[in-house]
Amino acid sequence: MQHRQGILVTMKLLLASPQCYCAGVDRAIQIVDLALEQFGAPVYVRKEIVHNRHVVGWLRDRGAVFVDELGEVPGGALVVFSAHGVGPSVHAEAKRRSLRVIDATCPLVSKVHLEVERFVDEEGYHILFIGHAGHEEVEGTMGHSPDHTTLIENVEQARTTPIPEHEKLMVLTQTTLSMDDTRHVVDALRERFAYLEVPPADDICYATQNRQNAVKAMCESGIGLLLVVGSENSSNAARLVEIGAMRGIPSHLINSHEDVRPAWLAGVTKVGVTGGASTPSSVVNDVVTRLEQLGVSDVEPCVTAKETTVFKLPMMLQG
Ligand code: SF4
Repeated sequence: MQHRQGILVTMKLLLASPQCYCAGVDRAIQIVDLALEQFGAPVYVRKEIVHNRHVVGWLRDRGAVFVDELGEVPGGALVVFSAHGVGPSVHAEAKRRSLRVIDATCPLVSKVHLEVERFVDEEGYHILFIGHAGHEEVEGTMGHSPDHTTLIENVEQARTTPIPEHEKLMVLTQTTLSMDDTRHVVDALRERFAYLEVPPADDICYATQNRQNAVKAMCESGIGLLLVVGSENSSNAARLVEIGAMRGIPSHLINSHEDVRPAWLAGVTKVGVTGGASTPSSVVNDVVTRLEQLGVSDVEPCVTAKETTVFKLPMMLQG
């Protein structure tokens, strides 16, 4: 409840559902946790296991050692590959250095890797890969066929990037893109290459789609502020912020409750809150508590889907 000019104003909070961990993130975190339990510390992890500071800090405290490259891992040690996946050269290097590997690549990222291999090696396509340069998932996926893949980041690049002459062009995408942006990029590519093909099933994963749909529903229900809880390097969390911003709603990416600024709430009667696919729900709960301290009197879920997906753990970690 807020006092404005002597009038009591209620402030409502809409909590997106689904939000926070997807099945791929949950599996990757469990993999490091179980590896620590079964094999003891240190367990090396190549790159951040998922893009969230809280998760990385918690696992580091448990004995995980995060490295950028395999050269930092002692020969013969146990190393986990992150949920974002790696290219074949990383597997080859691990083998050369006799590292013991547990691969925490999300099965939905692995699906895209297999598509690259099938479309290039078996069916002779050149791949136009829509994604963000420098993202680990993009590096890993393009690493499966670097000579037969062209990266396209946006509509502008779709219009101008030189693309080798090829009779068969297939579009594949990073799993955590904006559904709307991707559609525009594909449309722009199709203006150049009418014969362009897309795979039968979308590469943008179910969790990304569900979290984006939940934020769109909150925006449509008239929120005056959107808070997305996630780390700066989380691609899917960044896309959720964009959804609110594109609709003219003040939208902020926050790492924790400490980032909430009371000034953001001035004049707001409905706040939307969500967490990216790599954000622990406990961090979102703390944000909700903080907002209650700042005047939210009513918390209501905004449910747009139910998620039941669970991915199996690697054999060597199954109890
Ligand atoms: S966001 Fe999608 S692709 Fe990425 S880990 Fe989660 S389920 Fe897998």
